[in-house]
Amino acid sequence: MIMKTEKPSYLNLKKDEIKKRAEKLWNMMKQCQLCPRMCKTNRLAGKKGFCGTDDKLIISSYHQHFGEEKPLVGINGSGTIFFSNCSLKCIFCQNWEISHARSGIKKSIEDLSEMMITLQKAGSHNINLVTPTHYLPHILFALDIAIKKGLKIPIVYNTSGYELVEIIKQLDGIVDIYLPDFKYFDTKMAEKFSSDAKDYPEYAKNAILEMHRQVGVAITPNDGIMKRGLMIRHLVMPNNVSGSKEIIKWISENLPKNTYINIMSQYYPYYRAPEFAEISREIEMDEYYEVIEYAKKCGLTNVEIQGY
Ligand code: SF4
Repeated sequence: MIMKTEKPSYLNLKKDEIKKRAEKLWNMMKQCQLCPRMCKTNRLAGKKGFCGTDDKLIISSYHQHFGEEKPLVGINGSGTIFFSNCSLKCIFCQNWEISHARSGIKKSIEDLSEMMITLQKAGSHNINLVTPTHYLPHILFALDIAIKKGLKIPIVYNTSGYELVEIIKQLDGIVDIYLPDFKYFDTKMAEKFSSDAKDYPEYAKNAILEMHRQVGVAITPNDGIMKRGLMIRHLVMPNNVSGSKEIIKWISENLPKNTYINIMSQYYPYYRAPEFAEISREIEMDEYYEVIEYAKKCGLTNVEIQGY
């Protein structure tokens, strides 16, 4: 049961605030600039932008997920909703059927609000929105409805990190837990492996700073269930493609030393990765532990280390 003092931020917002922001974001789809691709596509006229999305909501699946970070999973799981399509489109994506091949089913905003309520009723500790930004207008309308139906668990914004600060600002007071990737430090790597997104490192840094400004450091409470804060994910890639040490250094110099960072070891050459020699293999133990040691050297104290 959620204690009164631990209620999610969105319950403190003024009446209709979420709806107002949803309307503003919905209108942005006329010349869509919801993400750094800034296609200016008229999605409301049925046209699809780089992300492959028009104004229809396509959802791949929703369920209690037990494979996320421990403080999100707890006992009953993280109430995860997987949205179809993606604006980053990495060529090694483990969910490429969802992000590239657009698998999913058309749903209404009312359906999405029901999913949130169903996940809460099942005991989920949070609503975990996976790759949500291109559907942000739909999500905020659904959230407004779900709150009226009694939603009272925190929202987790689970993103590639390829985000516009102005859009993340629209989530101030709505999202309690940010879960961004920080994928690359080198613009050339981002360009090569994430569909020409050479601006990824700059956008990711600025978005992460804004997320931290809103929710602060993620500290796991005594009950083991995260309620609020910034949780960064970094996937170590073979041959230092992701620039792990530079990312760790940047975090240690620009955010508090106790910033939560999950240094992930599970890289696998999914989808088109076997076509590129530098990322066509799993990582080696030495590559992973070199990053862990470096994180310690930089003084980071809130590092999740996965068993290699
Ligand atoms: S959300 Fe999609 S349509 Fe909008 S700017 Fe990004 S890629 Fe383009």
